[in-house]
Amino acid sequence: MELCFATNNTHKLTEIQALLGDNFRLLTLQDIGYHDDIPETHETIAENSHEKAEYIWQRYQVNNFADDTGLEVYALDREPGVYSARYAGPQRNAEDNIQLLLERLADKPDRQARFVTVITLTLDGQFYQFEGAVEGTIISEKRGTNGFGYDPVFVPEGHDRTFAEMTLEEKGKLSHRARAFAQLAAFLRERS
Ligand code: IMP
Repeated sequence: MELCFATNNTHKLTEIQALLGDNFRLLTLQDIGYHDDIPETHETIAENSHEKAEYIWQRYQVNNFADDTGLEVYALDREPGVYSARYAGPQRNAEDNIQLLLERLADKPDRQARFVTVITLTLDGQFYQFEGAVEGTIISEKRGTNGFGYDPVFVPEGHDRTFAEMTLEEKGKLSHRARAFAQLAAFLRERS
């Protein structure tokens, strides 16, 4: 089966191709002739994920899936949420985002947070969603150099190292994205 992964992130594409195996041929946005960013105009991760999959379906009638991820910090009313990438401004800089997050959390005793990924799959115009999440804590200073985004300040529940102190393989076993993709992969395997 051919499926487009509606992302411009080639790293994600390689990861999910490995999870899905040879029964699925993943197409990139370039493969179907789309060379831009897909709009994300909503207030929730689930709606943005749906918007991306629907956008590609309506323009190309190609079966596809899209993902959207955010960090939800409970003491900040689930900020930065959909704004995770551009929390500190349109420059989308991870250092700036972390600094702002730590400032806003400075006087908060509750440091609980979660990463959540929602994947929307569209097959012949029908939509399906899969969610993966990982609970954890935001620490007050960065630790580790692996990963990206908020990884240096996020310690997943049941662990004492940040995502940035873990190998890609360790993070891949427990991450929000891996959990959501595993559900997508199981759903697709059942149908193939
Ligand atoms: P996206 O929807 O996957 O592009 O993620 C949006 C933003 O959430 C990213 O720009 C990062 O700031 C943050 N983010 C997503 N996944 C992760 C992760 O695994 N670790 C740390 N930050 C992440």
